[in-house]
Amino acid sequence: MSSKILIIGACGQIGTELTTKLREIYGVNNVIASDINTRNLDLVNSGPFEIIDAKNFNAIKDCCKNHNIDTVYLMAALLSATGEKYPMEAWDLNTNALFHVLNLAKDGVIKKIFWPSSIAVFGSTTPRENTPQHTICEPTTVYGITKQVGERWCEYYHNKYGVDVRSLRYPGIISHKAMPGGGTTDYAVEIYHEALKIGTYECFLSKDTSLPMMFMADAIKATTELMQTPVEHLTIRSSYNLAAISFTPKEIAESIKKQLPEFSITYKPDFRQAIADSWPSSIDDSIARKDWNWKENYNLEVMTIEMLTQLKLKYRIEP
Ligand code: NAD
Repeated sequence: MSSKILIIGACGQIGTELTTKLREIYGVNNVIASDINTRNLDLVNSGPFEIIDAKNFNAIKDCCKNHNIDTVYLMAALLSATGEKYPMEAWDLNTNALFHVLNLAKDGVIKKIFWPSSIAVFGSTTPRENTPQHTICEPTTVYGITKQVGERWCEYYHNKYGVDVRSLRYPGIISHKAMPGGGTTDYAVEIYHEALKIGTYECFLSKDTSLPMMFMADAIKATTELMQTPVEHLTIRSSYNLAAISFTPKEIAESIKKQLPEFSITYKPDFRQAIADSWPSSIDDSIARKDWNWKENYNLEVMTIEMLTQLKLKYRIEP
């Protein structure tokens, strides 16, 4: 039987590409995209779209009932760097929107939820290398705190009420369609744009700051595969560790230089350096690999070639 899906926060960096993929899999009219604004016109015009504030329980409920929605992907959130500027807004949106969809599942209005967590659940007391699934989580950012409590509530709603909620701890996601929305790993997207536009980039993290990252195609693949996995294979109901590649600003700059030899980078760390320093440099995602056969397709070199190829088309630069 075909799934009827609602995506909340569909106009963002991940939602934009997730919507396209889910429409390919389930059919355009079976995937309702929604967001608080219509900023992303390509997305808004690509199929069914509704304005929904993720903090408004009744708006989500009405949409689910009107369209017979069985699955919700909750992508609306305030991200790490923006969350530090607006702590109470981040807490309000990130936790209450999750409660709304968890309660809709508990009440039987919907059957299944995808909610992304993040490597931001970890903190400076977490082992930084090959960070295990089960480890110390003492996040130091508001964003990380909202993701950590979100994970606890997901597991609680699953254990207590049988809610089928599934989650991934996304690393920094790199993509060429929508721009990132205020995270600490945004440099790894901006660098490709600036490399092509002006040939140089001033990085807000120091050159040796290694962070876990992933190309968007892999993040979407992980998300759809997790949601299609038979329920009996799932052993994690908080959020799965998920990894693909880890690199430093210096390493991504070197991979760009192989394609654009004139490219140069400078470093001017700002407040985001402290956030990055509190996060792991690499992640052990062996449970995801075992439970649902997770495997990435993109390494740093392949991703760089793809990013530059796609952005040259976008900026109409000769190949
Ligand atoms: P984004 O900031 O690019 O997009 C978020 C979207 O939510 C935007 O389109 C925004 O308009 C919308 N939104 C904001 N407030 C809203 C509200 N009140 N109601 C409805 N919509 C609202 O974020 P993203 O990068 O696409 O991230 C999606 C999810 O993935 C978030 O939960 C984020 O924490 C998580 N995540 C992202 C990354 C990453 O690198 N992008 C990494 C880890 C986790």
